[in-house]
Amino acid sequence: MNEVKNNHIIFHDGYIKRSDRNRLNNHKSGLVLFTGLSASGKSTIAHHVEKELFQRSIRAYVLDGDNVRHGINSNLGFSRDDRKENIRRIAELSKLFVEAGILVLAAFISPYEEDREYIRERFEGDNFIEIYVKCSLEECERRDPKGQYKKAREGLIKSYTGISAPYEKPKNPELIIDTEKTGLEDSVRMVIEFLQEKNII
Ligand code: ADP
Repeated sequence: MNEVKNNHIIFHDGYIKRSDRNRLNNHKSGLVLFTGLSASGKSTIAHHVEKELFQRSIRAYVLDGDNVRHGINSNLGFSRDDRKENIRRIAELSKLFVEAGILVLAAFISPYEEDREYIRERFEGDNFIEIYVKCSLEECERRDPKGQYKKAREGLIKSYTGISAPYEKPKNPELIIDTEKTGLEDSVRMVIEFLQEKNII
């Protein structure tokens, strides 16, 4: 048992460990973070990977940026501090899912290297996989599935990543998927094969 600084809260260990749940499920749990510009293809790939894993009896769950911002992070905006807090909560939420034996597929723009490194450190290298979903801004703007780039260009949306807020490219991601060169089916296959190579599934 660890005593947390200041607030006297004691961490309560359960009888059933993550390793027990991983054994029961017959696969490991972990966090796959899809990072990239809006419309690069993060959600689309993550949801197709989830479907493929489900068909293989693997417990995976998509945490999607937009959905999380409707719920647990509904009180956060897009300032630097709020983006940081957004990522911190996602990391903690993911940790709980991972402890519960789930393979989390998190689709978040997560534009700052510092924030992605924070998640990596929080997972201490333990089944944390960063996937850079690469796509040029020009192509993302052309796709613009939700019409948000157009609004950002018109100034209707402030601090929009790629337009009026930065996106820092990952320096050392575990995997890069270039969605201008790789179709959806091949993108999904790349993720599945990577998970197999790492003995996660
Ligand atoms: P993000 O989650 O990164 O904001 P979305 O997945 O919501 O992006 O949207 C990506 C858009 O790009 C979708 O309309 C999708 O159909 C399209 N798209 C085109 N090619 C690809 C590809 N190779 N992989 C994923 N999405 C693609």
